[in-house]
Amino acid sequence: RVKEESSGSCRFFDTTMGDKLRERRTIEQDLRQALQDDQLYLVYQPQAKIGTGEVTGFEALLRWKHPVRGDVPPGLFIPIAEESNLILTLGEWVLRTACREAASWTRPLTIAVNVSTRQLIDEGLAELVQSILADTNLSPQRLEIEVTETALISDPSRARQTLKRVKALGVTIAMDDFGTGYSSLSNVREFPLDKIKIDRSFIKAVHANKQAAAIVRAVRLLCDGLGLPVIAEGVETADELRFLINEGFTDAQGYLLGAPVPASDIGPLVFENVIPLPSARLRIVSEA
Ligand code: C2E
Ligand code: MG
Ligand code: MG
Ligand code: MG
Repeated sequence: RVKEESSGSCRFFDTTMGDKLRERRTIEQDLRQALQDDQLYLVYQPQAKIGTGEVTGFEALLRWKHPVRGDVPPGLFIPIAEESNLILTLGEWVLRTACREAASWTRPLTIAVNVSTRQLIDEGLAELVQSILADTNLSPQRLEIEVTETALISDPSRARQTLKRVKALGVTIAMDDFGTGYSSLSNVREFPLDKIKIDRSFIKAVHANKQAAAIVRAVRLLCDGLGLPVIAEGVETADELRFLINEGFTDAQGYLLGAPVPASDIGPLVFENVIPLPSARLRIVSEA
């Protein structure tokens, strides 16, 4: 199609832009409907101690089961929601649902919730979090808010203010996807962060790429120096885990430890408090 229309490339471009815009508008409308029709739900991915497999908490991840399109990935619909105020409604739904579901767990594990730029620069975020914690009866110490560097730098002074007020409630602030945004090093000093999540892209490259390994090592030293806990994201293989153990990491999240699961499947993980299969694998890893 591109080749055929190459002579009229300008018109082709216009058409594509129009298609894209229409597509986005459709997704946005469908997403509003999804909120009303219960098409959205959360899945929870465990975070664990890498030495023992002990589960410390879960990250809530948004899922959308569209009646026609099937599963729509968050990487597709969240950016669209972020272009309108819809992300505020969506973000509130996620916060409320995650806190309510976590409050029902039989152990007081932490619940990490992703918060987008638009939510972070919204005046009302701290009040919203406070009222949701009160409504759901979740202890603030159990809630963790994940923010990205991109969100922080979009309006740094506002973001800093919001985070300070959220943190004052007793909520933990974690920096997500660390290393992929801008000016990482000054951000860890300038924002009231409690925890760093090192991005999956570095973890998956530790064996193929010396630079990635050096960065992972340096981030761990940096966090140690600053007294900030650090968790490795997207750990998929025993080799990656072995590397992390050797580098002194204590916490991880990733498919090796467990894929995200729906709320209904979370019971055993919370109850036993240890990830059965990977923890057995982990023991082998540490003995190797
Ligand atoms: P994130 O916050 O960095 O979440 C981690 C993503 O990596 C999740 O993708 C998770 O399923 C995936 N993941 C975890 N372990 C592994 C692994 O070992 N290997 C690989 N290849 N992937 C792994 P997901 O659920 O598709 O979410 C993508 C992004 O969408 C999230 O990245 C987050 O930025 C955003 N997102 C998801 N849910 C929400 C939400 O409720 N609110 C907001 N604002 N953003 C959300
Ligand atoms: Mg996250
Ligand atoms: Mg991340
Ligand atoms: Mg990410």
